[in-house]
Amino acid sequence: MIVASPKSIKEIVSLIDRHQKVLFVGCGTCVTVCLAGGEREVGIAAYAVRMARKLAGKPVEIEQVTIERQCENEFLKDLVPMVARNEAIVSFGCGAGVQAIAERFSTKPVYAALNTEFLGILEEQALWTEKCMACGDCMLATFGGICPVTRCAKRMLNGPCGGSTEDRCEVADDRSCAWQLIYKRLKDIGQLDRLEPIIPPKDWSHAWHSGARKTVRPEHRV
Ligand code: SF4
Ligand code: SF4
Repeated sequence: MIVASPKSIKEIVSLIDRHQKVLFVGCGTCVTVCLAGGEREVGIAAYAVRMARKLAGKPVEIEQVTIERQCENEFLKDLVPMVARNEAIVSFGCGAGVQAIAERFSTKPVYAALNTEFLGILEEQALWTEKCMACGDCMLATFGGICPVTRCAKRMLNGPCGGSTEDRCEVADDRSCAWQLIYKRLKDIGQLDRLEPIIPPKDWSHAWHSGARKTVRPEHRV
């Protein structure tokens, strides 16, 4: 899922400094699961921002709503009347959600309340870790299901680098060496031979370096 973290209340107050009526919009999917931008977080932020503005002598009216997915136009249509009666929108969606709202409501200011961080998983209670950088050319089959592009600090495709201590990465000792994990995993599944060939340089043409990417599936278009 997409993992994000909330901006501070101070930042959100500053974002809407010039407005008196603002719509706070939560998103019911990834950012709800990672406790950053769901109904609960929108409610807490709205309360805190109202209090901060009141104490500053500049009260603000905040309307709040959480929709199922901000990144789909289908759900954005429910916002139309609420957007019409507010001066600006604060989106608690990921970066895609914020931009979808900005495209849909092109004459209203839209502000991001979250910092969108990575594609990851819930490791344990309230701890998420990054697993994928969406490179567009997945190599997990070669590496036993462990991504060196994301999880090796040097993004080595022919590791390890030789700097690990025990099973720790030399760049950040709070993280496992991805190559230790890859070796163990391939050994456990009887596929260590996958590490014998030198892996050629990755084809980055599917990645993010040449701007925003598109995916089209003609068979599903109407
Ligand atoms: S190889 Fe690319 S698509 Fe596959 S997990 Fe790693 S970053 Fe994600
Ligand atoms: S110690 Fe392991 S994870 Fe860290 S940079 Fe070297 S090979 Fe990559």
